[in-house]
Formats: sequence, C-alpha cells, structure tokens
Amino acid sequence: MQTPANPNLSHVWNAALCALEESLGSAEVDGWLRNAELLALEKGVAKLSVPTSLHQERIQERHLHLLCRALSVNRCDLEINELDIEQMISSDERNVSFAALPLVTNKTEAAAQWEPESQAPECPTAEPLLLNHEYQFDNFVVGPCNRFAHAAAHGVADRPAGAFNPLFLHGSVGLGKTHLMQSIAHRLRLNNPAIRIAFLSCEEFINHFVSSIQQGSVTHFRERYRKVDVLVVDDIQMLANKERTQEEFFHTFNALHNANKQIVLSSDAPPGEIPALQERLVSRFKWGLVAEIETPCFETRTAILHKKAERIGIELPNEIARFLAEHVDSNVRELEGTLTHLHALAMLNGLPLSLPLARQALGSERTARLNRIVRMDDIIAVVITHFSVRLVDLQSKSRSKSIVYPRQVAMFLARALTDLSLEEIGGYFGGRDHSTAVYSIEKMESRRRVDGDFSSLLADLERRIRNS
Ligand code: ADP
Ligand code: MG
Repeated sequence: MQTPANPNLSHVWNAALCALEESLGSAEVDGWLRNAELLALEKGVAKLSVPTSLHQERIQERHLHLLCRALSVNRCDLEINELDIEQMISSDERNVSFAALPLVTNKTEAAAQWEPESQAPECPTAEPLLLNHEYQFDNFVVGPCNRFAHAAAHGVADRPAGAFNPLFLHGSVGLGKTHLMQSIAHRLRLNNPAIRIAFLSCEEFINHFVSSIQQGSVTHFRERYRKVDVLVVDDIQMLANKERTQEEFFHTFNALHNANKQIVLSSDAPPGEIPALQERLVSRFKWGLVAEIETPCFETRTAILHKKAERIGIELPNEIARFLAEHVDSNVRELEGTLTHLHALAMLNGLPLSLPLARQALGSERTARLNRIVRMDDIIAVVITHFSVRLVDLQSKSRSKSIVYPRQVAMFLARALTDLSLEEIGGYFGGRDHSTAVYSIEKMESRRRVDGDFSSLLADLERRIRNS
C-alpha cells in the first residue's frame, strides 16, 4: 500500500480493516481491502483508491455495507453511507497489482484466474502469490506458547521437504498460524525466487475443485496443484464433511509427498480431532511434525503489543501495554485490534495515549465484536462439532431424534444471530418450509424459558459462534 497523504485516514482505514477482519476473515480483507487506500471522508462519502477494477467490483458488490459501517464506527462523528472508488493510476502499476491478485474463490473469478496460462502474469515458474508483508518471521514474537511451532516453521523455511513434511500447525483462532505459514512462504521465496508455492485457504481449494468439476477441468485442477514445490493450505479443518474434496486432497497430498515436495497445513484442531476427516488423511497429517500454538501468556501478549506499536510507529507506555495485555487474553488478533482502535481514537481526537482512552478502546472493541455479523457457516461449524453430527444430516430428511434436536438448535441460533428470513432458514436445512422453521424455533424458545441447562447451552454455543 502506498503511504497515504493523511496519516489520520490511514489509521481510520486500519481500524476499519481490523473490525472487518472479524466479520469477513483475514483472507478476504488481505486479498481485497488491505491494498486499497482511503483518500477522503467527506459528507457521508468515503473515497477509496484500489489497485484494479476487480477490487472495485468486489468491494462494491460484497463489502459496501460493512465497510461503510466500519468506517462510521471508527469516525464516531460521521456516518458514512456511500463509497466512491477509483483505480490506482498507471497501467504499469496495474500490471504489478495483477501479479498480486488474491486467489479468488467464486466460480467465474476462479475460471478467470486459473484458466489460460497465457494470461497469467509473466512469471513462468512462480504461482501468483499474495502474501501479507507484515506476516514475516521478523514480526513474529516468540514465547513459550509458540516456540515449538515457530522453530518448526523456521526449519521448513530453511530446509523444505526435510524432516518436517508435512508441517501441521494447529491452535485456536487468531494465534498466529497464518502469520507463521506466510513467514515460511516469504522466506522460501527469498531463498529461491523461482520456487513454485501454492498458498491458499482450504475453502479456496474446495471452491476451486468444485468449479473444476462443474467446468469439466479437473485434469487442469490436478496439474495446477501437483506441479508446485510447496503447497500451503490454511484452515484445513474446512475439509470436514467434504468427502469428494477429501478424496482429491488425499491424492494431491500423496503426489506431492512422493515427489518430495513440502506441504504445510494449519487447522483449529489437531488432525485426530477434525470432525469427519478420513482416517487415512488423519494419519498422513501426522507423518511429519504436528505443532500446536497455544494462547500467549501475559508476557508474550505484552511483547506482542510493544512489537505492534513499534511497527505502527507509536510509543506505547508500559502501563497501557500491561493494561491491554491483562484484559485481552484470548487471542492476538483481538489484542492487535484493540491497540489499533486505541491508536485511532488518540489520533482522531488529538489525545495522548492514556489508560482512560485504553479503557474506552477496549469497550468499543468488545461491543463491535458482539455486534459482528454471524454467518451460517459459523453456526454450522459449532453445532456439528458440539453434537457430533454432519451437515448432510442436518440438511437431510431424517426424523431421528439425534438429528432433529441439533437441527432445531441450529435453526434457533440462525434465527437469533443472523438476518436470514424463516424461509431462508427452512430452505437451508434441507428445503424445509417456513412453518417447519417456525415450529422448530418456537419449540427451542419455549424450552429455553423453562430449562436452565438448555439456556446455558444456547448461551455457550452463541459465545463459541461469536468467537469463531
Ligand atoms: P490464525 O491464523 O491463527 O487465526 P493469524 O496468523 O491470522 O492467526 O494472526 C492474527 C493476528 O495476530 C495477525 O495480525 C498476526 O500478525 C498476529 N499475531 C499472532 N501471533 C503473533 C505473534 N506471536 N507475534 C506477532 N504477531 C502475532
Ligand atoms: Mg488463519
């Protein structure tokens, strides 16, 4: 990203991105929003500059509403309700940004991205690779919680396809898995610019596989992934219940491993605890090295805050770092979000960093998180894990009690936490009609009123969904 003319706008933008990461996920934000620039905020309109027309379309189509809201929250004095998006200048620059286009996920875009080799950027050996410049080893703070994973990642970066193949990193959300995987990719590319790395989320792998089936280009899909030197797949737990993709991934894995190519995977759970994952994949995921990243301790959290403050060029008094580290103890993304928020508050109001301001930032960060939009996928992920059922069962016609109950809970949560209509909820769960959805939701609601344990279960599921 270019250095913005107005540092305040850059902070407002960064705070908005932090908030959006909560609802859109970091891959989406890194891919489509991070390299945009906020040029102005005036009369309810945010003016943005983006690298390509593809970015422009994506933001207009998918992020308009959330982005306006995030920008408004962070500019307490001004409500933003419109975006004015322009493309960044010269055609040379455009070529550069095309090389940095994110791996895309929907069908048409996937086709455009992957189809004719001749249209790919001029880079015959390397895959187009989008990496976040911040996610490098130098910016990663090592502590007892991640020392082992960090050492393993270094090992892979220095000696790919050596002793740790595959490297399987796991830990809960926001603890640095993607950061470490990207650090590996950065280092590998630095050591060998010609190395072919495919770095993608599991969701992208799934979408690409599905669209290649639809378009009859599975052979092309296979070639694409089996000719790389390094395959990095983030959030591999998404393979749960995707049987055909698991099958395909199994063969991709074997082909690469046999050819002595490096594989790096991450997940929110260790291999054996990923629900409905074929045993043969579980065992392969354990072949190399499985390394866990744990929640950082207080000292590591404080060190991360200082590191981050240094990166954004602010002097963070110790007492404020300690205050934030004490209060935000669940994950690093949240810790960073609070610091960015605090910084934006200070800049916009022309105030020095202080404990009262830190308290205010903490409060609004938490409110923003509570209000964040919940996706159906988040609900499903938590429900299927908790009840040990499969999505296909929830969407089936089955009337068995062990399926009906989780299905009703999922419908209830969908009604409570999303904006979906009763028709949409009924339709999602196996094409049921509006009245079935009403019946299920009312049944859960009546039970919640009289059954304390059930009420706590719902609250616990909601908490897990919001933190997912
Ligand atoms: P995950 O992939 O595990 O959900 P990420 O890698 O996206 O988490 O990390 C979330 C944020 O926290 C990123 O901005 C990352 O840079 C930061 N982060 C996590 N762990 C560390 C660390 N040990 N040192 C510095 N930053 C970290
Ligand atoms: Mg991640």
